[in-house]
Amino acid sequence: MNTSAERDFVVETTGDEGTRRLAARLGAALAGGEVLGLDGPLGAGKTTFTKGLAEGLGIDPREVTSPTFLLLHELTGRVTLYHLDAYRVGDAEELHEIGGRDLFRGDAVVVVEWAERVDGFLPADRLAVDLDHVDEDSRRIRFRATGPEHARLIAVVKPEEAP
Ligand code: ADP
Ligand code: MG
Repeated sequence: MNTSAERDFVVETTGDEGTRRLAARLGAALAGGEVLGLDGPLGAGKTTFTKGLAEGLGIDPREVTSPTFLLLHELTGRVTLYHLDAYRVGDAEELHEIGGRDLFRGDAVVVVEWAERVDGFLPADRLAVDLDHVDEDSRRIRFRATGPEHARLIAVVKPEEAP
């Protein structure tokens, strides 16, 4: 039975290390072609999560920065990681300049901070990651597969279950 519970998982992490470890586990399970849409207020941990994801893809997490001038960073690991910060994306023209929907056609992993700001630009099937503050050191992270291509990733982020 394909219940919504199988496409949805909520977890709390402690400290940026907690978020990074979880994201690294996810990154290690990515094959290329996945799209992750990150949302949540400033300081919720979107960039921290992306650093962990990079680590899992064999990329030095120090290469992940908050894009200031460039909207898009291309990082090379086991597979290519495109890191898009949509906070400052102004219009469709800017999305066109960074490659438009071709970004999603190859076998790179695409991670987008402030995904809701470019909602119509992103593929409908993706892993939505909503982060929020619980307290200074804790964050609630909700994972939601919005289509069949990303459903398997829910099992990856769930804590290890006995075989
Ligand atoms: P965003 O990209 O969403 O604006 P950042 O990842 O840049 O957020 O910043 C998150 C901040 O919160 C960092 O300073 C990080 O050390 C801190 N932090 C504390 N606890 C956590 C946690 N559990 N997960 C992620 N970040 C955390
Ligand atoms: Mg950020």
